[in-house]
Amino acid sequence: MTQQGSVDLPSSNILGVEIDRNAQVKLYPFTDFFKGFDKVEAVRSTFGDEVGEVLNNLKVEFFSFRFGYMGVSDVDGHILISTHHLKNSEFKILYLDVVHELVHVKQFMDGKQLFNSEFEYVDSPVEVEAYRHAVKEAKRIGMSDKEIIEYLKVEWVDPESHKRLVEACGLKME
Ligand SMILES: [Zn+2]
Repeated sequence: MTQQGSVDLPSSNILGVEIDRNAQVKLYPFTDFFKGFDKVEAVRSTFGDEVGEVLNNLKVEFFSFRFGYMGVSDVDGHILISTHHLKNSEFKILYLDVVHELVHVKQFMDGKQLFNSEFEYVDSPVEVEAYRHAVKEAKRIGMSDKEIIEYLKVEWVDPESHKRLVEACGLKME
């Protein structure tokens, strides 16, 4: 490669390989895959009058890793979604996850820090806000408290933290 490359990375010469480290993430328009969300009151209330513009400009990235479901990039605010989750999860779970992630998109737009190591996942104010919003919508679409509590059982959260999240969302464990 370039002369500079060979100066910076002598080990690449020794190993006889080259790695181009400038890969681009493939992004798609959110609205190619998710339609009608601009009409959902729970989403309209997140973005207000800007809802159409925000969703039209929003990008989504898919990843095929089996673990993890959805998230929002803290670099540019695009949504990341597991193709496994997209294909296999129950429709209303996917729907609520999108409603949840869109809260993070708004938080990113408002300059809030999405990842904060100061808090545990379930105690993070940005997560609590997103979960409360999703839980409100879950109730509206007719999910029972039991179903919602199950929905809040995120796989990387231990029972004690799950209980805290449930209570932060105004629900009671039996
Ligand atoms: Zn979240």
